[in-house]
Amino acid sequence: MNASDLVWLLLPLAAASGWLVARFEQKRSVQHSFDLPSAYFKGLNFLLNEQPDKAIEVFIRVLEVNSETVETHLALGNLFRRRGEVERAIRIHQNLIARPTLDKEQRSLALLELGQDYLKAGLFDRAENLFLELAEIRVHSEQALKLLLHIYQQEKEWEKAISVTRKLVRVSGKYMDDTIAHFYCELADQEYMRKNYSTARDYLKKALAADDKCVRASMLLGDIAAQEDKYREAIEHWSRVEEQDIHYLGEVAGRIAEGYKQLKDEQGLYDYFQTSLQRHGGVSLALAFADVISHRDGVPAAEKFIVDWLRRTPNVHGLHKLLELNLAKASDSGRKDLLLLQGIIEELRAQHLGYACSQCGFKGRALHWLCPGCNHWNTIKPVREE
Ligand SMILES: [Zn+2]
Repeated sequence: MNASDLVWLLLPLAAASGWLVARFEQKRSVQHSFDLPSAYFKGLNFLLNEQPDKAIEVFIRVLEVNSETVETHLALGNLFRRRGEVERAIRIHQNLIARPTLDKEQRSLALLELGQDYLKAGLFDRAENLFLELAEIRVHSEQALKLLLHIYQQEKEWEKAISVTRKLVRVSGKYMDDTIAHFYCELADQEYMRKNYSTARDYLKKALAADDKCVRASMLLGDIAAQEDKYREAIEHWSRVEEQDIHYLGEVAGRIAEGYKQLKDEQGLYDYFQTSLQRHGGVSLALAFADVISHRDGVPAAEKFIVDWLRRTPNVHGLHKLLELNLAKASDSGRKDLLLLQGIIEELRAQHLGYACSQCGFKGRALHWLCPGCNHWNTIKPVREE
């Protein structure tokens, strides 16, 4: 047990001891002896001597005598759960709920705690039932709905996740349309894997109806069209990313180029990248355009483009591209030096690749729509475009 846990335990006990003192004085006034405070001091003493297990034993014994100390029961149960002693937490909370004297607020607090014990123990069905009950009676419903959402995300029950999120929006007033769109995308993804393209498309339309900035839906709609050899349509979907969120343009640049190649539309390919680059700039577009130029007008033209671009916006990716173009035509002796230089730049470049979460700073090589670090949707973006 660490220091913050100790402080945390002391807080509710401080509150409870206030109650006890009041109670003690009340009892003394009617001439009854009452020895609880000494037990509390004994417990506190154990805590201060960093013997939390002994302290907890003392407190439990005290609590068994005093069934009215609901808050302290709740605090102890919570502490057990945090320490990973889920069975003890469950026992405390179940005992609490079994008491007929609890008022509605206390009972629902105990249910909320018990639900979280079940969650921690992996008993998702039981936890779900408790949270549903709380959402139904509209006490602590925001917390209950959040925990339900957590369960449905873990279980990949996306339809249920959508309906709970809609309720959560009503209760909390928070913006969650982008999250709902991702749930539709998850459903679409499942159908896409099974090659049920028409059902997948229906879900993606719902995703865009929930959040018209949903990049993921446009990407997948394009992928489906490409699977059906409808490249013109695929390019339309992928191109929409440009207006939705420019950070993700690099994710579709390669696909758009491939689409034009499939259509054998070299002029369309050139025009697309030239105009998009004029509109937005951006590393991914410039690198893709260099390839287009190299293919159409030859390596020297691509080199000239990269050098001009580097003069305006010096960056390690452009330098890397320039070396790549030079390596292709280098003599054996020049090649050695260039390879050495490329190795160094490769290392520098590695720091400017991949994806990062704007919420928690999580970094990864692959694009996750749900951040594995902080469990937020839509917070991970490509690093390269920064
Ligand atoms: Zn994160």
